[in-house]
Formats: sequence, C-alpha cells, structure tokens
Amino acid sequence: MSNSPEVIVIGGGIMGSSTLFELTRSGVDALLLEADPTFGGRDSSKTAGIIRTHYSNPEVVRMAIRGREIFRDFPQLTGAPPVLHDIGYVFLASAENVEQARANTAMQRSEGAQVDELPPSELDRFAPGAARDGIAALFHERVSGYADPVPAAEGFIAAAVRAGARARSGVRVSRLLREGDAIVGVATPEGEIRASAIVLAAGAWSKPLAATAGVDLPITFSVEQELLLSVPSASAPTVSISNSVDAVYEHPELGLAVAPGRMGVLVGTGFPKSYPAGDPERYPDQDALPDLVDELRRRLAIRQPALAEAEVVAPRLGLYDITPDWHPFLGPTDQVAGLILFTGGSGHGFKIAPAMAEMVAAAYCGKPVDYADIGHFSLDRFARGERFGSTYGGNRA
Ligand SMILES: Cc1cc2nc3c(=O)[nH]c(=O)nc-3n(C[C@H](O)[C@H](O)[C@H](O)COP(=O)(O)OP(=O)(O)OC[C@H]3O[C@@H](n4cnc5c(N)ncnc54)[C@H](O)[C@@H]3O)c2cc1C
Repeated sequence: MSNSPEVIVIGGGIMGSSTLFELTRSGVDALLLEADPTFGGRDSSKTAGIIRTHYSNPEVVRMAIRGREIFRDFPQLTGAPPVLHDIGYVFLASAENVEQARANTAMQRSEGAQVDELPPSELDRFAPGAARDGIAALFHERVSGYADPVPAAEGFIAAAVRAGARARSGVRVSRLLREGDAIVGVATPEGEIRASAIVLAAGAWSKPLAATAGVDLPITFSVEQELLLSVPSASAPTVSISNSVDAVYEHPELGLAVAPGRMGVLVGTGFPKSYPAGDPERYPDQDALPDLVDELRRRLAIRQPALAEAEVVAPRLGLYDITPDWHPFLGPTDQVAGLILFTGGSGHGFKIAPAMAEMVAAAYCGKPVDYADIGHFSLDRFARGERFGSTYGGNRA
C-alpha cells in the first residue's frame, strides 16, 4: 500500500466511519482500515441505536444534541438516505427516581433540549396497553428516537470516499508501529503504513491493539443480549422507551418485515442489570443466552405481557466496551505521541459518535468545537483525579 496518508483510522464502525467523514471534510488526507469485509458489522450493527438527550452531564447533553443534529441532517451531509427515525423517546421514571429525572430534565432544557414531562395517563399512546402502576412520570423528547447504524457507517464512509478519502475493508491492523515515544504507523499483512497520526476506533479490539504499543486501556467487556420480536401491532411501542422502572428499553424496528398485523420490536435489558464478562477474542455469535433472555422476559412481563410472550425473530448479542466511569476515551494521550483514541463507547456511544468524531477532527485541526472539551474525555483524566459522574449509573450515563 503506497501513498502514506496523513492520518490512519483503524475501524469502520460508527466511530471510525464518522471520523473518516469529519477528517475528510476538514481537508485531512485520511485512510480507514477495517478488518472485516464490510463496514459497521461488529458492535455498531448490534446497537439498539437509541437517540436521546437524557444524560447526566451538561457537556454530554450538548454532545447528544449535536450527534442527533448530524443524524438528522445525514442525507444533506452525506447524500445517503435518512438514518434517523425521529419517532420520539420517552423516559419512564419511578417514584424513587422522578426527582432525579426532573433535575436532569431541567438541566437538559437549559442546554437546549426539548423535553416535556407528562403524567402516567399518557403512557398508552407510547406503549399501548402497558400497565401504569409504579410509574411516576414520563419525560418525552419529541425529536429523538433511534437510528439505523449500518447504513450510517456505510453512508459516512461513502461520502468521505467521494470527497477523496480512502477506505479499505478486509485489512486487519496487526499492531501499532511505535518508535520511541511516538506511534508512527500500523503493520498489516500487506505491509507497514506510516502516518502522522493514528485514530484508534477499533471498538472492543482497541484495547489489544493499544497494548501492542505498550498503552494500557482500562476497558472491560460485558455481553449484552437483545431480542428482535414480532409483536401484535396494537401492542407495539410507538417511540423509543427507556423504562427505568422495570429496567428495560425498546423501540419499534420499523425496517423489519414481520407477519401482517404484527410489528418488529427491539427489546433489551436496561440498567441496573448484570454485566456478564465478555471477551472480544471470542466474540459472541447469534445464539441467545438463555439466562439473559429469561431475565428480559421477566422484566417485560411486569408491564407489557404481549412483548414478554412475543415470538423471537432473532436474538442479538453484542459487547459493551466499558471504561471506569462509563464515558469514552477521546483524543491524544500523554503516554505516547501520534495516537488519537476514539473508543470505549460503554454501551451508549452510538448517539454521540458523530459529535465525538467532529470533536476528534476539530481538535486534530487545531480548531476545537465550542460545545465540549475533548480534554475532559482524555485517557489521562483518571491520573488527574477526574472522572465523570452520572445520575443513575451504568450505561444510563
Ligand atoms: C447490545 C448493545 C446495545 C447498544 N445500544 C445503544 C443505544 O441504544 N444507543 C447508543 O448510543 N449506544 C448503544 N450501544 C453502544 C454502541 O453501539 C457502541 O458504543 C458503538 O456502536 C461502538 O462503535 P465502535 O465504532 O466503537 O465499534 P464497532 O462497531 O465494533 O467498530 C469497530 C470496528 O473495528 C474493526 N476492527 C477491529 N479490530 C481491527 C483491526 N485489528 N484492524 C482493522 N479493523 C479492526 C471491527 O471489525 C469493527 O468493524 C449499544 C451497544 C450494544 C452492544
């Protein structure tokens, strides 16, 4: 592979693809390398893709708003079909956490998010037939919802390539090339490629790749079980829902064709939940994990028996790549020059990926964005005694 690029992006999931797009539109000559034959087929294809601005920290709320804007404007930005389903998002709060949710919502509004608090009597229009007991309030974001991850990754890459970037699938980076205190390129089976900087966006595989250059990423992995269901249309949710009362999440899967009179619905277990250890080297296949499926059905049965009993169209297993404070690693590290991290999505990285990509590219070009400080997401934050807190915990950051 000749013609060394200025920047190499490792990984063609949502993080790498959006970075290639942002670097290219900033005028940077970038090359993306993806190990698989296709783009977006690993964790990004397993995401629920829920788009919300209900976060604990003002900075992350601003990133979620910016990420949603980029998904909303995706056709104009990339020339690709729409990926955002802005059907709405509802957070269901219990008597125990409703005051926390109200405080979060007030903060969200002060950052520019539109959120309406609604009484439990409104639940039926979002989750038809669902029981209301135990629900203290609903928090409705009209223009949130969910997005289709694989078309998003493919669209970002296609637009970047049209604008002059290079993207190679089927090329696995075997290690980072380190000379002294700097990363100077990557090794692949086709040979070495040198570059001024490397963006490490290899998802759950970022940790072993960083280790090849002596950089330790404090990331752990958990197996996540979701189910795609075929649900009677009259019982299907009409929006994306984070149900913090029973700890489940769900949204209609609008692109999934099921039998007449039925709708595709994606369901998963929300926080708090168990986090069974996962291993990127033994990436989960498509067999459901019975214990996790039973737990998910038990939680759904509390309020939505039609979902608990619904036929499974397909199980979906993915990995969370979890940092110590459930927030990603972004940007350079003091440990070594030439390495830009973009990894550790911690189970909620999809919706903020386009904003994070913009932050990474802007910082690289020396023109930081005004809505967030990439330094707050540095790997080095823990050594400085800093870490993100969150209202609820886990990936409900
Ligand atoms: C079940 C589940 C549900 C989720 N739900 C949500 C949600 O509702 N909302 C939300 O915001 N987030 C959610 N997330 C989190 C979100 O999906 C992830 O944070 C995000 O998709 C990770 O993207 P990525 O690009 O880092 O990783 P990936 O999509 O895994 O991409 C990494 C890419 O790097 C490639 N790669 C690996 N090693 C190499 C190598 N050596 N050389 C070259 N390429 C390599 C891989 O093949 C892969 O394509 C969820 C995650 C899971 C697992």
